[in-house]
Amino acid sequence: MRRTEYLPGDNVTDSLLNWIRPEIRALSAYHVADAEGMVKLDAMENPYALPQTDRSDWLNKVSEAEINRYPDPHARKLKLALNALMQPPAGTATLLGNGSDEIIQMLALAVAQPGRCIMAFEPGFVMYRMIAEFTGMQYVGAPLDDDFEIDVVKTLRLIDQHQPAIIFIAYPNNPTANCFHASAIEQIIKFAPGMVVIDEAYHPFAQDSYIDTLAQHEKLLVMRTVSKMGLAGLRLGVLFGHPLLINEIDKVRLPYNINVLTQKAAAAILKKPQAMEQQAAQIRQQREVMLQQLADMPDVKVYPSRANFILFRLLQANATEVFEKLKQQGVLIKNMSAAGGVLENCLRVTVGTEEENAVFMRAIARAMNNE
Ligand code: PMP
Repeated sequence: MRRTEYLPGDNVTDSLLNWIRPEIRALSAYHVADAEGMVKLDAMENPYALPQTDRSDWLNKVSEAEINRYPDPHARKLKLALNALMQPPAGTATLLGNGSDEIIQMLALAVAQPGRCIMAFEPGFVMYRMIAEFTGMQYVGAPLDDDFEIDVVKTLRLIDQHQPAIIFIAYPNNPTANCFHASAIEQIIKFAPGMVVIDEAYHPFAQDSYIDTLAQHEKLLVMRTVSKMGLAGLRLGVLFGHPLLINEIDKVRLPYNINVLTQKAAAAILKKPQAMEQQAAQIRQQREVMLQQLADMPDVKVYPSRANFILFRLLQANATEVFEKLKQQGVLIKNMSAAGGVLENCLRVTVGTEEENAVFMRAIARAMNNE
């Protein structure tokens, strides 16, 4: 009988699955929690929508898009808008990705060779490790110290030992929310044999950047994203750097990686950034309120934040239980506890709207009181 559907419990023969590389089979896919109907404070999104006036502006632009044609492969207008907003030094080249995730992948593809490694800090953003593994590279995680700062001596020793092709430095770091000391970053840039990528995904909340220093170091690249500014759904990341280096990385980019709707919408929105800048200011202000409220709670150690999220540790209560109790109350945050080690019993909450944050604070107070 000819089969017309897959049945639950159907198995694929091992000999077929064995074609998938063992390191891929060993991976767990990047997990995105189901947030349907929840107060969503797990993914560092901007909680605010664009004001209606701005919305009609970019919708008009999108309505002109020729979706029967391939998009501009170089996204020239969009790059102009990004450069005008982010102001890299004159002569800097720009590469765009379908989110900065795709840029990390392009960087890895451009350097991948057996025996080569990518280095980042632990705890850190998981995609550096995952993409190193996708591309058949080694991954070296340099451990941060107890204050989540770079341990310079240990890090320089690891660099010396492994000669990483790329070192990723998230600034501020996810999930720890801090900006590493400038002197540590400077020493790493000096000592690195390959490229150093400063990942400024959370720039709107840190308001501090390495972009101005690009021309001083040819190995330095600065990566940004529009995701945390309020455009996560558009999927757009940007990499700035030396033209000759960017030119090489650009060769592994798929020709039309930024679709025409994103090109149109993002270019229009980025030309009028005022609303998003105001939202970022609101988020920074709310972050300070939440930091104080969490610090005032008994049994909570809260870490400083330069980002739009806060990492905190429960000193007595069990973080996984509190996380589940929050979920039962309709509040989704991120449980970092499973990672163990220095993140043991830690939770990460994204700064939302004032109302969302108040719901979170009430819910966590209840959860901690075993209600
Ligand atoms: N870098 C860091 C440090 C992040 O935390 C994230 C997402 N959470 C990204 C990059 C990826 O951002 P996107 O792909 O949305 O641009």
